[in-house]
Amino acid sequence: MLNQQVENIRFQYSIANRELNNSMERIKSLKMSDEIRYRPILMMDSIPWSIRNPGFGGVDRFEDLDGYINSNLMRSINVRIEEMKNMVNVQGESFRSIADRSAEWKYEIDHSPAISPVGPSYRLGDGFRFRPIHPVLGVGRMHYGQDFEVPYGTKVYATGDGKVVESGFNTGGFGNYVVIDHGYGLVSIYAHLSKINVPKDVNVRRGDMIGLSGSTGSLSTGPHLHYQINKYGSPVSAINFFNNDITQEEFNEMIQAFGSKSIFR
Ligand SMILES: [Zn+2]
Repeated sequence: MLNQQVENIRFQYSIANRELNNSMERIKSLKMSDEIRYRPILMMDSIPWSIRNPGFGGVDRFEDLDGYINSNLMRSINVRIEEMKNMVNVQGESFRSIADRSAEWKYEIDHSPAISPVGPSYRLGDGFRFRPIHPVLGVGRMHYGQDFEVPYGTKVYATGDGKVVESGFNTGGFGNYVVIDHGYGLVSIYAHLSKINVPKDVNVRRGDMIGLSGSTGSLSTGPHLHYQINKYGSPVSAINFFNNDITQEEFNEMIQAFGSKSIFR
């Protein structure tokens, strides 16, 4: 009878062993996704080998399993359960940090100026360059923005999430203008507006309509939007902050998706 019982237990151990193997394989495939997909994409270091494989040497946790005919079988299965617990813990921690990191990235991506401020239908005017003869001043002067040749009254959109830090009339030549601080050192400026739609200090989301284009300010010669990006206080070429290859439908979808929570829609 005892022999029969031992046989039964051996059988159950072998089933447990097989299930353990299956679970190990599944955890290993999660680990692979982690190592070759998520971490590289999010530019995170891989988890050190020593944390993934801490080794269970040293203290013998399974001394009490010694002295039986099937000691080796019982030991090996217990050691593997310990290994698996560690793998599950490490993988759980890892996925938590990946989730945190991707949330940070999403926040940063949402806050980056990344669309055309006037939608997909526009003609580009003057860009970021030195103008030997300024159309109004008549002397050489750097042009720090990207001009969009759009009809008077064209809707102007926030190009990324952020906070309105300036809204009003600028006597330096910008006329009615809005400045949005996106964080991460980035600021976007929308100048020569005919109408301003957002007050200072409110938060806006990408796609919020912040005003209408116009030709206000002493430095404007005709209807257009002067769009400028400053990075850590210095103007940079705004043309690197939007793509030219998007349809009206795609644009509408995008501003709907991004702006749905906004109070200004
Ligand atoms: Zn301009």
